[in-house]
Amino acid sequence: MRISIFGLGYVGAVCAGCLSARGHDVVGVDVSQAKIDLINQGKSPIVEPGLAELLDAGVRSGLLRGTTDVSAAVLASELSFIAVGTPSKRNGDLDLGYMESVCQQIGAALRDKQERHTVVVRSTVLPGTVKNVVIPLLESASGKRAGVDFGVATNPEFLRESTAIKDYDFPAMTVIGELDEQSGDLLQELYSELDAPIIRKSIEVAEMIKYTCNVWHAAKVTFANEIGNIAKAAGVDGREVMDVICQDHKLNLSKYYMKPGFAFGGSCLPKDVRALSYRAGSLDVEAPLIGSLMRSNAAQVKKAFDIVTGYDKRRIGLLGLSFKAGTDDLRESPLVELAEMLIGKGYELKIFDSNVEYARVFGANKDYIESKIPHVSSLLCKELDDVVAASDVLIVGNGEPRFADVVKGIGDDKQIVDLVGFMEHATQANREGICW
Ligand code: NAD
Repeated sequence: MRISIFGLGYVGAVCAGCLSARGHDVVGVDVSQAKIDLINQGKSPIVEPGLAELLDAGVRSGLLRGTTDVSAAVLASELSFIAVGTPSKRNGDLDLGYMESVCQQIGAALRDKQERHTVVVRSTVLPGTVKNVVIPLLESASGKRAGVDFGVATNPEFLRESTAIKDYDFPAMTVIGELDEQSGDLLQELYSELDAPIIRKSIEVAEMIKYTCNVWHAAKVTFANEIGNIAKAAGVDGREVMDVICQDHKLNLSKYYMKPGFAFGGSCLPKDVRALSYRAGSLDVEAPLIGSLMRSNAAQVKKAFDIVTGYDKRRIGLLGLSFKAGTDDLRESPLVELAEMLIGKGYELKIFDSNVEYARVFGANKDYIESKIPHVSSLLCKELDDVVAASDVLIVGNGEPRFADVVKGIGDDKQIVDLVGFMEHATQANREGICW
């Protein structure tokens, strides 16, 4: 198929790489010239395992290219995916600014298009957004009718950063929300080569499925963390407890997100929890469980801070800055928050994160790292050993594999605080886990 993808961030760049690898003709569009230049050089704008290779192969084969020209991209394709960001507003609601402007641009380009075109929203949006915002904008800008002159669908993205390509190739399911049957058929054909159930629903149901999924993940993390905290206080390793709970197949509870540990973070879970809570409030629906997830999550960051500062040592090393290993995404990383709390209290902090270090030099996140969090990024060190040598307390913040060796190799002179679960049991006096 001929496909245009609007927004070449974590979702769009992965889709562009995976779709071109499967032989589709893909044109990626972004407002950032820097991202377009990287794509056209066959380089990845983000850190994501395997993505640079796919983008490079796509560009070399002539199946993938980037542009800032919206109209040319729409005219050259039969299907447009929208993968622009939908960040949180201050009040927790979704900021649809990028979505609105991309819809106006695509709509204007549709005016001159003779061939049938289908617009697919891949970004995460609250139920009703496509009906009340996306379709009206596309219709007014194009002068055409949605579902008649052009197709509209949603296709929520379920990828997890750091395993995004595997998640694309082996999804648990593919959800299609369709306005018109023809658009649903087109997406079904696109995904027919994947070995996963394809579930076709109305657009509103598909929109709600994505929120339900992310809020469920957040609820699992906070539940596991609270159990872990209580277990630890009672002298029990919460991980052992949760391992057994996850073996109860009648409960059918997958082990993912059920590991007691540190707070959840990243660009999706916090923003989607806030958006659904906001929507519940604006619909006059009480949802105290969902409404308290962010509070429980913040308490877990404070808990890590209390453990670290409880040792009365000033030189702290933070191993990992992004919310998980294998990505350079720093949006809403609880480790950035922990770093800020330590900096605010005057601790001597040094940080190591190989993916962030790479992105600081080569990636599209360079600006974010340097201009949005200079107070934190200025503490990044190039070498892991330098951070280890200069610290009395080492916080293992994410699961970068070589941090496991640090945990194993460290002497009695340093204190380790493990937020990830690398340590078997915190048997030695100089080792403490957040929930064990
Ligand atoms: P991102 O911020 O990394 O990327 C968005 C891109 O859109 C940026 O490169 C930006 O320059 C571009 N953009 C903005 N306006 C544009 C326009 N008018 N035309 C073309 N490009 C434009 O965001 P992301 O993390 O890829 O997330 C995108 C959406 O997917 C969000 O709704 C998010 O909630 C959802 N999502 C993200 C993930 C994830 O793990 N990151 C997973 C599932 C779903």
